[in-house]
Amino acid sequence: MTHEQPLSANLYGLDRWGKGLLSALPNGDVALCDPAHPDAPPISLPEIMQDLQQRGIASPLVLRVKSFLEAEIRTLNEGFAEAIQRTGYRAPYRGVFPIKVNQQAQVVDRIVEFGRQYDYGLEAGSKPELVIALAHRLSRDALIVCNGVKDAEFVRLAILSRRLGFNTVIVLESPKEAEIVIEVARELGMDPLLGVRVKLTNQISGKWESSSGDRSAFGMNTDQLMRVVDRLRHEGLLHCLKLQHSHLGSQVPDVNDVRRAATEACRYFTELVGEGVPLTHLDLGGGLGVDYTGEKRASENSINYSMAEYATAVVETVAYAMDEAAVDHPVLITESGRAVSATSSMLIFDVLESTLYDAPDAPAVQPDDHHLLADLAAVSGYLVADRVQECWNDARFYRDELRALFRRGYVDLRQMARAERIYLSLMARIKDIARTAEANSELDKELQKIADVYHCNFSVFQSLPDVWAIDQLHPIVPLQMLDQAPDRRAVLSDITCDSDGKLDQFILDGEIAPSLPVHSLPEDRPYYLGVFFVGAYQETLGDLHNLFGDTNVVTIDLRPDGGFDLLHEQEGDTIAEVLSYVEYDPADCLAAFRKMVDEAISAGGLKASDRKTLIGAYRDSMNGYTYFE
Ligand SMILES: *Cc1c(COP(=O)(O)O)cnc(C)c1O
Repeated sequence: MTHEQPLSANLYGLDRWGKGLLSALPNGDVALCDPAHPDAPPISLPEIMQDLQQRGIASPLVLRVKSFLEAEIRTLNEGFAEAIQRTGYRAPYRGVFPIKVNQQAQVVDRIVEFGRQYDYGLEAGSKPELVIALAHRLSRDALIVCNGVKDAEFVRLAILSRRLGFNTVIVLESPKEAEIVIEVARELGMDPLLGVRVKLTNQISGKWESSSGDRSAFGMNTDQLMRVVDRLRHEGLLHCLKLQHSHLGSQVPDVNDVRRAATEACRYFTELVGEGVPLTHLDLGGGLGVDYTGEKRASENSINYSMAEYATAVVETVAYAMDEAAVDHPVLITESGRAVSATSSMLIFDVLESTLYDAPDAPAVQPDDHHLLADLAAVSGYLVADRVQECWNDARFYRDELRALFRRGYVDLRQMARAERIYLSLMARIKDIARTAEANSELDKELQKIADVYHCNFSVFQSLPDVWAIDQLHPIVPLQMLDQAPDRRAVLSDITCDSDGKLDQFILDGEIAPSLPVHSLPEDRPYYLGVFFVGAYQETLGDLHNLFGDTNVVTIDLRPDGGFDLLHEQEGDTIAEVLSYVEYDPADCLAAFRKMVDEAISAGGLKASDRKTLIGAYRDSMNGYTYFE
């Protein structure tokens, strides 16, 4: 459905990074578009929030959209299928979803269900993840690829699972692991399905540079690889070695790095086949990126290719290398996690209040006020467009002098409050002029750094850990009022008591800005902000800073008639739950509190009737949400 986008939709770059999943309605609401039904009416996010609120589900929450997850799985698998057909490649694609990227049952279940038509499988990097994988009914030809460090228990379960028809591949990470596998296989009297992880020497660019190249933590160098091949041959197990694996790191920004890595992987593959290893599967790991900024170029938070182009690059590179070496085309595997799950979740929270760095009016200077107050107020008399920088300099000078006088006791608290307010009223006019005057774009940039602070109901540490840890950028957009020009600029501060708990880098149309254009907070309804593309890595990396726990999580499906179905609700942590994570027993806490109340009653400090109120308040908090309610 096409319609005129309201003015500010462009400002936030919805069309650049939104992948057609989002649009802005004429009433200014941000809406979700179903990629499977492009003609269906988009569904307003503020209306979804209102509906959830009525059902008793409060923000902050993570909203997962089933249709978005399915769209990415479809695009990935069909992208490979088309590239395979176009190139005349003679083997299929059998992707696996790396459980690490989003282990939540609702996500993995849906990936398995929807992926079955494509023989889509799972990648497990640990024992718990293998346990998850084996709880799913995969299609007959789908794979389970086991990476990571493995002990005998892990290996035993992987080998035994073949009895149930699972195609569980044990990827050998080291010669030592090969010995464990040899031993367990002998003990069980069963053939394992084996892979080897090779360490490529090509380094990729981007944030995950160090997970590629010969200093990366995983995989074998050429010497180790040959030792493992010789050992397997000696033990009569070489016929089990079917798969070669390599992983470049995540969010590869440049598709040519994919080509170079695939070329190197093929060199290993064809050489190993030449050695008599019966390899049939080539696994190129993860790395397929997401264009968080919409820049469409090889930079930290962007990529210079689409999913289809990635598939084409892989298929063509492998076809060429195999043909050149006269080796049969192997089954192609990628372990694309980020690109499959990132876009399907968004974090939505409300703004609790704002600290404004300007004021609409100025108080009058009093006769007894220090003369610097009068000087400060007088700036407004010569504040015009071509003197705006000078006025800002003057205003800051007088304010700073007054602050110094206050510290030394020459100016009292009421005078200082008047001075601050006069300064803030000047700032309002300076910002207005800088915003409109072309010539002041440098000044405007400076002023963006002293933006308002919008205090928001979420925790960066719990919900956006990569923003804190590795400067990950996510698109952030007000979910309403996009039909009105935003009249303020803000940084977003979370509700933890930590100065790192903030968002101060924003993707706007064509630039990364230090503040986000926002609207003055409406009085009659909540002002929601959405952080998009948080479906990869964010959910389980989060921590309990200040004991803010998991948020509510809601999974919805978009209906073709413009409505939505609530598929699942996972209630966020209660305070009792987070206390138990840090070794407190909630019942003990309540008992200790009750004891203090009873002692206070005995001592006569409290009336017996206060007991109910006090204990009730404590108990209500204990059972409540950790966020602002
Ligand atoms: C983390 C990981 C992945 C997923 O990578 P993405 O870049 O998210 O696709 C795949 N394979 C291995 C071995 C990994 O460690």
